[in-house]
Amino acid sequence: MLMNPRVRFAPSPTGPLHIGGVRTALYNYLFAKKNNGTFLLRIEDTDQTRFVEGAEEYIIEAFQWLGIPFDEGVGIGGEYGPYRQSERKAMYKPYAEQLIRDGWAYYAFDTPEQLDAKRKEAESQKRTFQYDASTRMGMVNSLSLPAEEVAARIASGAPYVVRFKYPADLDIHVHDLIRGEVVINSNLLDDKVLYKSDGMPTYHLANIVDDHTMKITHVIRGEEWLPSAPLHVMLYKAFGWEAPQFAHLPLLLKPDGNGKLSKRDGDRLGFPVFPLQWRDPKSGETSSGYRESGYLPDAVVNMLALLGWNPGNDQELMSMDELVEYFSIDKISKAGAKFSLDKAKWFNHEYILQKSADELYPYFEPILREKGVTADPDYVKAVTDLIKDRLNFLTDFWEQACYFFMAPTEYDPQAIKKRWKENMPEYLRAILNILKGFAPFDKQQAHDAVMAYIQDNGLNMGQVLNSLRLAIVGAARGPELFTMIELIGVDEVVARTERAIEAIGDIHS
Ligand code: GLU
Repeated sequence: MLMNPRVRFAPSPTGPLHIGGVRTALYNYLFAKKNNGTFLLRIEDTDQTRFVEGAEEYIIEAFQWLGIPFDEGVGIGGEYGPYRQSERKAMYKPYAEQLIRDGWAYYAFDTPEQLDAKRKEAESQKRTFQYDASTRMGMVNSLSLPAEEVAARIASGAPYVVRFKYPADLDIHVHDLIRGEVVINSNLLDDKVLYKSDGMPTYHLANIVDDHTMKITHVIRGEEWLPSAPLHVMLYKAFGWEAPQFAHLPLLLKPDGNGKLSKRDGDRLGFPVFPLQWRDPKSGETSSGYRESGYLPDAVVNMLALLGWNPGNDQELMSMDELVEYFSIDKISKAGAKFSLDKAKWFNHEYILQKSADELYPYFEPILREKGVTADPDYVKAVTDLIKDRLNFLTDFWEQACYFFMAPTEYDPQAIKKRWKENMPEYLRAILNILKGFAPFDKQQAHDAVMAYIQDNGLNMGQVLNSLRLAIVGAARGPELFTMIELIGVDEVVARTERAIEAIGDIHS
């Protein structure tokens, strides 16, 4: 049994959170809860050029909506804070200096133009330039320059970066809990920048220093970070720190399996890729969110949990408690997981069905309010029980339930043609008289009496009952007729039917 692991979700506030990021956070959360651990939120905002206004608030709101709480971090606090990297800025420099002192890093003064010239030169020889053991002595850095010059440059305030110094030709082993052993030779790796003279660390240095000082035991993150893992392993070694365990999650793929699910795919293919709607502060462009598209948060969580993991049996519907109970890293698959809109829809439908009318009411009340409808909560709940099996999305409510709140103003011409035959006004008026005879209304008795009338007069049951339905709903749809009449009320049914008779009239074929 693992002892109290500490895991983190470490987004950069560069825009809305992609559902791939939500899944990463969810797996971290499930792993922490399963093992009595701690789950923290760290905001990685060292790259000020990519900072986007409102992104951090968006991230926090998204997890609140999803019901994935953090134990520590931005917005919560904790003993390892601050949890926003920009507020930890002063902390990183001594670590960069330590690496230089110990021979694991060096100052580099190459200007962008010099680096560009090297790249162009390599390109002309059909090579790619790499800053590494084979090239670094030909560059402008503290390894190639005399010590006095290095000191003088730094003292004069010349801009510099600190680069990691990989040993030449070293096989670096990354132990990944999902992928097993991944080995890469240091000759294939670039001496990555760790720190810049503007006082900001890069992602790599800040990430490792923070994971270490925040006592992170497991780094569970997307596969796109696997190429950075050898550097991270080496940094732990250089600092003499024990590395956390790594688990790189499989990619979320487009529905057709061709490539990674991108931010642009969602609105192009008709489903959200963000938990909440996002409005870009610069362009004003809006991208759809699961919340606004009528998904329930627990359905989204359940659907995402299964994109890359399964409990080892066929169970698909799982509450958060069950997900926590069944979760384990060794059941995460290596292969990318295809997003499926049908599956997302299915999960949402199932979760709507599981919810009581009381639980659904807070979602439907604002829809009614927006339509200008005031209705008794008990009536709304009774309607909910009747129609919820027709909903894939919460936003389908009005489409499926509008006629319980408003008389139809149009009648489906197809249904008229098929059902509304000769003498229909006469038959419907007779039925209305029967219905009016039951006060208070008795569904079963009214049903039996109407059936008896239809039979005694040798009428076509489908035509008559569907014409009545057409008058009430405006179309040939809706739940069981007499249940509907009971809920809408006989007076209203009478009024609607009179209006339909007037609008459609008697048809003589
Ligand atoms: N800031 C990185 C991101 O945006 C964190 C990667 C990691 O978990 O190490 O995903």
